Amino acid sequence: MDNTANIDWTSLGFGYVPTDYNVRVSYKDGKWGEIEVTKSDSINIHMAATCLHYGQEIFEGLKAFRGKDGKIRIFRLEENAKRIRRSAEGIMMEPLPVELFKEMVIKVVKLNERFIPPYGSGASLYIRPIELGMTAQVGVKPATEYLFMIFVTPVGAYFKEGFRPAKIAIYRGYDRAAPLGTGRWKVGGNYAASLAAGQKAKEGGYAAVLYLDPKEKKYIDECGPANFFAVRDNTYITPKSDSILPSITNMSLQQIALDMGLKVEARPVPVEELATVEEAAECGTAAVAAPILQVDDIDTGVKYVISKNGEPGPVTTELYNRLRGIQLGDLEDTHNWVTVLD
Ligand SMILES: *Cc1c(COP(=O)(O)O)cnc(C)c1O
Repeated sequence: MDNTANIDWTSLGFGYVPTDYNVRVSYKDGKWGEIEVTKSDSINIHMAATCLHYGQEIFEGLKAFRGKDGKIRIFRLEENAKRIRRSAEGIMMEPLPVELFKEMVIKVVKLNERFIPPYGSGASLYIRPIELGMTAQVGVKPATEYLFMIFVTPVGAYFKEGFRPAKIAIYRGYDRAAPLGTGRWKVGGNYAASLAAGQKAKEGGYAAVLYLDPKEKKYIDECGPANFFAVRDNTYITPKSDSILPSITNMSLQQIALDMGLKVEARPVPVEELATVEEAAECGTAAVAAPILQVDDIDTGVKYVISKNGEPGPVTTELYNRLRGIQLGDLEDTHNWVTVLD
């Protein structure tokens, strides 16, 4: 029986396509309840819930892929399970057990199997776990009740016009996170803080904002929803900072770089170093690696041309191809990053 969803996979974007089911668990009276499967894409929420007033909201983003062999592969399930626990602890929410996270993800992916894009389409099934503080209270303190839910939605290929480098911009009048603040956790509030600069970038014709460290504005932090890396002298260089989100894609690319015989440096990266790098890219689940053409430091007027010939660099391209190959099952998963569903 072929009941594949009737979707034009090649024209899919990054919106929201409804699927059949989502899964939820509630935390109440000191414990997590049973997994509930629902067809409803709404939630019923008290108007005084802490997530609505005090930002007790965290999320994750991971993907499932259909391989050439027809099998479904989920990339780095365990790492996402662990990261959302750290986010929960960071803003005083109840962390979900890793095993429960995995069970819920596998369940929601299987239930919506007909929405997993076919191999070769470039599209994938995006998995979005979220956790919300649900207790009705106006006093500023952590909730005692939580809702953890996971929905999935098919998303299109990131590089519709091919794997091309893009321009990004630094706006020194904005920070997305504070030093020692919530930048290291995946909380919705960080995204609210990034919207104004993001809009400026869009209006200026830039693909993304590159944030500098919020304390000294000397070092590179990351892009709004993606980490940053550069390549020079056979070395993968990525910023180390308390205000960036530890990207699982970045972690994976660092390992692949080592596999390729590169050195890896995770350290503070002064913004002026952009003048000396051979390649640079944004990295995250959405794109894997999005090559950078040029970085414009808007307030100082300095422009760093990264790609001299307008093409993606060879190392970035190889890193991208290897990671995609592992996700799709075309390359051997030597580090056990992929959960294959049967
Ligand atoms: C999610 C996210 C990333 C990318 O992380 P991945 O695990 O690679 O998807 C990077 N920066 C921020 C701020 C994020 O929220």
